[in-house]
Amino acid sequence: MSHEKQTQEFDVVIVGAGLAGLYQLLKLRQLGLTAVIIEKADQVGGTWHWNRYPGARCDIPSLEYSYQFDEDLQQEWNWSEKYSAQPEILEYINHVADKYELRDGINFEEEVVSAVFDESASKWNINTSKGQYSAKFCIFATGCLSVPNKPDFQGLENFEGQILQTSTWPQEEQNFSGKKVAIIGTGSSAIQSIPLIADQADELYVFQRTPNYSIPSNNGPMDKIVEQEVKSRYSDFRKENSLNGFGIAAISDEALVSETDIDEVNRQLEENWQSAGLGFFGGYADIAMDKDANAVAANFVRDKIKEIVKDPVTASLLTPDYHIGGKRLCVDTGYFETFNKPNVHLIDLKQSPIKEIAADALEADKRYEIDTLILATGFDAMTGALTSIDISGRGGVKLKDQWQSGAKSYLGIGISNFPNLFTVTGPGSPSVLSNMMPSIEQHVNWITDCIQWMVNNDKSVIESSQTAEDEWMLLVNEIADTTIFTDTKSWYNGSNIDNKAKAFLPFIGVPVYTELLEEVVSEDYKGFIFDKVN
Ligand code: FAD
Ligand code: NAP
Repeated sequence: MSHEKQTQEFDVVIVGAGLAGLYQLLKLRQLGLTAVIIEKADQVGGTWHWNRYPGARCDIPSLEYSYQFDEDLQQEWNWSEKYSAQPEILEYINHVADKYELRDGINFEEEVVSAVFDESASKWNINTSKGQYSAKFCIFATGCLSVPNKPDFQGLENFEGQILQTSTWPQEEQNFSGKKVAIIGTGSSAIQSIPLIADQADELYVFQRTPNYSIPSNNGPMDKIVEQEVKSRYSDFRKENSLNGFGIAAISDEALVSETDIDEVNRQLEENWQSAGLGFFGGYADIAMDKDANAVAANFVRDKIKEIVKDPVTASLLTPDYHIGGKRLCVDTGYFETFNKPNVHLIDLKQSPIKEIAADALEADKRYEIDTLILATGFDAMTGALTSIDISGRGGVKLKDQWQSGAKSYLGIGISNFPNLFTVTGPGSPSVLSNMMPSIEQHVNWITDCIQWMVNNDKSVIESSQTAEDEWMLLVNEIADTTIFTDTKSWYNGSNIDNKAKAFLPFIGVPVYTELLEEVVSEDYKGFIFDKVN
């Protein structure tokens, strides 16, 4: 008797039950297709399930960082704060899973290990930690920031205290009272968690390699008048935001720093500092494009850091020296203020890198005895989740090999040599340089419409052409080269991961991207090849 597990057949296999995978399942069901989500976690939520560290919250206001596909959902859900915290966002995602009865379409605690395209049958064979699936289409909703980066610190395995990582934080509440805590990293995750950990811990040692720019969130309880105003015209509000370069509700980019009186620029930047969060560049089109204009905004924030942080040496260490925005801008609640506390110590890893982690200590410029070590060291962003699955396309070509010298994709949705495979917010799309909620919905809608079009037009296989993909990535880079985003080491260009190809991957400019996406559809999916014969 064969012990081989039976292959389960679906029209579509979706990988990932975050915001993207859930909406994709709903849309495919509405189309009348059979679909399943395979998810390695034990529950829905993706990012908002995995990242439970203290202070985790969105940094795009919740009225924007939410689904827009159903007016009922938009109206019925009430956020308690301007920027909601992780538990509330997870509650919202669970509400969505229940409201649209999605749970019976998700196989939890199952990891996709490989996906192989069978050219003769035009089907994907998907192997997981638990079984096999076969599907005509495979949609990767695996997230841009879902594979933790865990650097290989010497001696890490010898540490006998507690090790936590922000991106795989335990579900049980952690208490740092009476403890000496070290945190490595000063990106958004660290910047959100440090003020809260500092409130509890006896001593908090912050190990910083590169300082970051951070703007105060000015978070607080939801302003009911603002909420009412937005809800009274939600679809117009969403449309207006989609015209902003980053897809957010920032003031429009009408003026140029280079053509505006410096006092007026500083007045506007002060207003942005007080209220705009990630929209700090708002009002000026050249801060993201022109080095001199960027320096004005950068200096504004540098001066703020010097004003807030009392110890001049600490203030200076916390002050970035690169273009503001070059690394992802952070949004905080009391981050810089935290360094005025006597129990918080900043250690500069540029000056003295980590030498070793011992059983009870971390050694850098000197030995720091600690009970808890927190890794806030980021992600193998944008490509990590895809390259960690063994994906084989036409002719057995492996995605990992094809992307060896840099990821390439057409529209951030399709990949040449990988037929009937779609990525939601893949490399080459605005993704991480946009409000990701509308970007996710845009891709899911586009992919669903494309599959519907294929059904209506009797097409069974779709694949990006190599030329379309090459031209697309050239465009991504041409646009990026006109901005300040490319010449800073960041996870946008793979610089945070050893041996990863250095390629700038996000498409900059939501409105232009939307226009190009629509143009592709209006010209019968130009750039894609249907039913290719070898
Ligand atoms: P994810 O939420 O990452 O979900 C992907 C899912 O795929 C995960 O559940 C994962 O377990 C699963 N998966 C991956 N590989 C496999 C596999 N091989 N087999 C099975 N399952 C697999 N964006 C914003 O626009 N605004 C914000 O304020 C914001 N805040 C953020 C805060 C944090 C702490 C982080 C880390 C990211 C934040 N982001 C924010 C980006 C955020 O990732 C996206 O907004 C969004 O949640 C992504 O949803 P997703 O469904 O595409 O991916
Ligand atoms: P991150 O921005 O990549 O920050 C990682 C930090 O770890 C950096 O300070 C990095 O230093 C440091 N680091 C990495 N490897 C190191 C090593 N070997 N030695 C010493 N330091 C090391 O990661 P993140 O903070 O998790 O944020 C990632 C992204 O997720 C954000 O940019 C954002 O898009 C999203 N996010 C959003 C929010 C929010 O506010 N809503 C919160 C968290 C995350 P270097 O800079 O020198 O590499």
